[in-house]
Parts: sequence; structure tokens; C-alpha cells
Amino acid sequence: MHHFEYRNNTLYAEDVDLAALAQEIGTPFYVYSEATLRRHIGVFAKAFAGADTLVAYSVKANSNLAVLKILASEGAGADVVSGGELMRALKAGIPPEKIVFSGVGKTDAEIKAALEAGIHQFNVESEPELDALNRLGIALGRPAPIAFRVNPDVAAGGHDKISTGRKEDKFGVAWHEARALYARARAMTGVAVKGVDLHIGSQITDLAPFETAFRKAAGLIADLRADGCAIERLDLGGGLGIPYGAGAVPPHPEEYAALIKRVTAPLGVQLIFEPGRMIAGNAGVMVTRVVYDKKGEARRFLIVDAGMNDLIRPALYDAHHDILPVCRNPGALQVVYDVVGPVCESSDFFAKGRCLPETPPGESVAVMSAGAYGAAQASEYNSRRLIPEVLVNGDKHAVIRRRPTYDEMLALEATPGWLD
Ligand SMILES: *Cc1c(COP(=O)(O)O)cnc(C)c1O
Repeated sequence: MHHFEYRNNTLYAEDVDLAALAQEIGTPFYVYSEATLRRHIGVFAKAFAGADTLVAYSVKANSNLAVLKILASEGAGADVVSGGELMRALKAGIPPEKIVFSGVGKTDAEIKAALEAGIHQFNVESEPELDALNRLGIALGRPAPIAFRVNPDVAAGGHDKISTGRKEDKFGVAWHEARALYARARAMTGVAVKGVDLHIGSQITDLAPFETAFRKAAGLIADLRADGCAIERLDLGGGLGIPYGAGAVPPHPEEYAALIKRVTAPLGVQLIFEPGRMIAGNAGVMVTRVVYDKKGEARRFLIVDAGMNDLIRPALYDAHHDILPVCRNPGALQVVYDVVGPVCESSDFFAKGRCLPETPPGESVAVMSAGAYGAAQASEYNSRRLIPEVLVNGDKHAVIRRRPTYDEMLALEATPGWLD
């Protein structure tokens, strides 16, 4: 469910006409629907109403401060994977006691900042990280609350590059080592063992791998308790997929919730979730203008003014995004296009062999479902300025990240005196 719809053949974000917005802002840009963000976080929270839960939005999906502020106002916490994301979450008003810190490479400086802030939990991904947490917990006189991220060796996720819970993946600690690590951690004074954590992948459209992994986690909790280890939290990560308009249709959050309640009810633990894509993905689109319609020898290319540096998902994950004309012409001829950007890389594409209405230069198209892992993964490759982000609320809109000037883009660079 989202709030991007046609009215009189023009695509709207809530009550804002995207053709008019493109005129005002200049393309390309991202636009997010506040009502959709609020709806998605609400659906998730409602699915677990009555249970002891913390919904820690995965900041890496879309880390814009305004987006974080909206989710904070809905009661969400945050799952952060860097000191920068921690800083953003705190700045957006997310209380530290609702923040969990994941990631395989937390540095001393990042751990210190999170300990000083008083976050809810560190998700520990290795034994050397455990040692670092213990050392810093002692040094600061604040034991670090921890859960081990355990690797259940379950294959899941919409693409090889977004599966994280297999033996071969860099994430988490090996299943067969978990009990020994918990025993080590319990003997440490700089950490406080709180729970078990897992996150098996992203864009998962089937409940089966979740069920397998969650049942394994429940079994581990029973084993740990038998070892005398008090486990009061279970962090189930994120990973629930969204409909991208093609490919598998993910289960509804209600079905996902029913499965989780079935598996975890006997455990009596606080449940922590780290949804990212399912909150932000369908709450945003990228609007880009057609520059040229190039009739190549073998293919016809719709060359647009956004590139893979602005939205890398098709290049990185072979991801499908629906592409819709901002102004729909019901009489338009259907054409098979490769929709590509201007970046000098063959992987700079948004769609290949896609049947679309013939779209003349100057017209805009919307790349749909681009609210998660879009702006957050953007770069300035080819010296292209980061594109603006716009938030819509009813008939209001605001630029929540403006397009930098070229001077701003160069501001951090310097040429040494000897080059003058
Ligand atoms: C990326 C990530 C998430 C969010 O995944 P989604 O598929 O966007 O829900 C949650 N937890 C961790 C540890 C992650 O790395």
C-alpha cells in the first residue's frame, strides 16, 4: 500500500502533482510520502500489538533526518550500523534506549560513542568484537548490553548479494560456537548478556527461511537457559520483502507476525525487529527526465538524467523497479526500451527490454519503490551531484535534502601548494 497514484493521467505523491514538482525542483530527485511511511511503521507495530516489542527501523535503508523524525514520532527505535547512523538517530530524537547497533566492524570510537549514549544493545558479530566491548565496557565503567548475532546457516534473500545468514557470509558467529561464546561473555564484567540476535537477509518473500531460522533461535535460547544464561531478548532482524511490481509477492506483515508469535510465545522474551525496506521501500520514488530516445542498432535506449550513482539497485542486485510515466498518455505507442543513465558504465541501467509507453525527451518517468536503498546508497561518481530528496505530506511538500552546488561538491578537496 502506498500513496503514489494517477489522477487524470498525472502521477501524484499523495496530493502533490509530480509533473509540477519536477518543474519546481528540477530532475532527478527522490520524493517520499509521509503517509506511506507512517502507515508502514503502523502496520508493523499493529501486527505485534500487545507483545513486548521494539521496532528498531534499519537506518541504512533511508537515513534522511526527516524520515527518521517521522518514524521516531511513531515510536520507532533504530538499528544502526555506524557511528554516523547513531549520530543521525540521536539527532532525530530516537531515544538511546531504543537503539541497537549491528555490523561486523564496529571501531573503538563507535563503541565508545554508543556506550556513552546508553544504547539498548550491541549485536556482537565476532569474538574479537566481544573482547573490544568488554575492554571498553570496563574502561567506561558501563557494561555493554549485548546479544550475539548468530548465523543460522539458512539461505534467504532476493539475491546472492543480500543473503546474510549462510555459513559463507561474513555476518554473525557460527551456530556451533554460540554456546561457548555466551559462556565466555557471562564471565566478563564489561559486557551484560541480554539476548540472541539474527538477521538472515533482505527482500525475503517466503516465510519458510524465517521459520527455519526463528525455530533454531528458539532452540538456542532453550539451550542457553539450560546453561544458566538468562536470555531476555530476541532480535529477529529485518528482511521482510516488499512487492516491486515483478517477481515474488512477499507475505503480509500480519502473516509474518503470526508465524513469529507462534514460534516465540513460549519464550517470554522482548522481541526486537529491524525492518528497513518494508518501511521505506514503497514510500519513495525517483523522478527522472528523459534526455534522449536513442535508437541503437540492436536496442532502443531511453536515456534519462538519473544514473546508477543515484540509484544503484539494478546494477548491484539486478533489481526490478517498475517505471511509470509521470504524465500518462493513454494513446501512446508501446515500445521496448533499455532505460539507462548517463554514467560511463555498461551497468548503468534501470531496466532492460522493458515495454513502456513511448516517452519523448523532456518528459519525466518515476522509478517506483525507490524509498529504500536508493538515496542512502547514492554517490557522486562521474562528479554528479547528489540528488535532492523531497517529502510530501498531503498537498504540502518540502525539500529535506537539497541539491548541493558544484562548489559544495568540491569543498572538501584541496590542491597542495606545490601544484600551484
Ligand atoms: C540491512 C539490515 C536490516 C534491514 O533489512 P531490510 O531487508 O531492509 O529489512 C536489518 N538488520 C541488519 C543487521 C541489517 O544489516
